Amino acid sequence: MNFRRPWCSIRQLSRRILESVDDALMPLRCAFCGTRTMLHERSCCDACRDDLPWLDNPRSAALSPMTATVAPLAYEFPIDAGIKALKYKRRLYYAPAFAEMLCDAMRFLPQDIDALLPVPLHWRRRAFRGFNQALEISSEIRRRYGLSLVTGVDRRRATRSQSGLSASERRRNVRNAFAVRRQLTARHVLIVDDVVTTGATTRQLGRTLLANGAEQVSVLAVAKASQTGVTGLNV
Ligand SMILES: [Zn+2]
Repeated sequence: MNFRRPWCSIRQLSRRILESVDDALMPLRCAFCGTRTMLHERSCCDACRDDLPWLDNPRSAALSPMTATVAPLAYEFPIDAGIKALKYKRRLYYAPAFAEMLCDAMRFLPQDIDALLPVPLHWRRRAFRGFNQALEISSEIRRRYGLSLVTGVDRRRATRSQSGLSASERRRNVRNAFAVRRQLTARHVLIVDDVVTTGATTRQLGRTLLANGAEQVSVLAVAKASQTGVTGLNV
């Protein structure tokens, strides 16, 4: 017969209490492997950081009408898995890791950026997901660089997922997708997104911002994807 020994559950309980105290004091764990990180490693441990698919050149060729487009990583494992887990499985612990990568990539962008715009989600999609991943990964940049947030830009059409669409279909899919409620006061707006593929979404958003008072628009994304084999982007 298997008697449950009380000291065993007390020991388990005290271990749990000690672990929660420890987590409260040292809450950082690597988003990719789950190991507790050192203070300097923040949300991604050095070993995982070394293994990430960093691009040799984070600056993409300028996509008209953008001033600059920067993405530090390739949309490959484990970045693709992390972005999907953040968006579709609410693994929000990926957000600070991606935010740190975006903060580091800010050095590749022009220095006169004065406002941020996370790519807006249609209200229905945002309500379903409960958050906008672009807003989540932007908050650390805002805080660290003291940038203002562009408000009053809406996604007025619930565009289809860009998944599986050709470049021309992607352009058609996002045409007139955004609306601006008031003239912008920012001069150089940085659009923040999780992934850039053909840039159809961000270019459409950029055009809308330029038509409503912005003088320049640049883009910062976590990852850059080649168009083939990519699913579930820009949604
Ligand atoms: Zn790790």
